[in-house]
Amino acid sequence: MKNILGENDRTAAENQALFKEKGVYVLNLMGSPGAGKTSLLEKTMEFLKDEIPMAVIEGDLFTSRDAERIEKHGVPVIQINTAGGCHLDAPMVQKTAQKLDLDKLELLIVENVGNLVCPAEFAVGEDEKAVVLSVTEGDDKPMKYPLIFKESAIALLNKVDILPYTNFDLAQAKEDITTLHPGMRVLELSCTTGQGIAEWCTWLRNRVKEKGKRA
Ligand code: MG
Ligand code: ZN
Repeated sequence: MKNILGENDRTAAENQALFKEKGVYVLNLMGSPGAGKTSLLEKTMEFLKDEIPMAVIEGDLFTSRDAERIEKHGVPVIQINTAGGCHLDAPMVQKTAQKLDLDKLELLIVENVGNLVCPAEFAVGEDEKAVVLSVTEGDDKPMKYPLIFKESAIALLNKVDILPYTNFDLAQAKEDITTLHPGMRVLELSCTTGQGIAEWCTWLRNRVKEKGKRA
């Protein structure tokens, strides 16, 4: 395991150097299956695609359904089919990034395979990680999967519009997240009502400005 991670880290560092040289801010978007990662990407594109040149790498176990959803928005998307592999790794992203015109991009979002465990262990060359947790998954998830919350720069509590129909304790989840990762940005989101989307886009826009071509 240590060797695998060491090798992955070396390739991740190469990817990171390339993205930095090209002025592309890279976000590794993680979360469980059904947390709403692709829906959030669709909302993000709706608001930012005309303003920020962006592309998406879609990690999926077997299908290209999510990539097809992204493609409809006219944003370049490349699918990585892991054929059952439960996370993306740096070599997969290295190979895939060669197919993108990095000179023209400012933002690359990598939607990882739906999984709260090992995506947090395998860097892909990203600037930062983000974790999406939907309120249907239960407020116990931060404490059960601490690494992904410790590693992420921002936690996105998704589907808050259906909060009244769940027993998700928002205050508890936020408290647990900030205990695990003091100072972490936590946003409440709903891709259905649009709640929090403007704040999320502002956060992302600022990251691109800080780290990307316009830095
Ligand atoms: Mg998805
Ligand atoms: Zn895995």
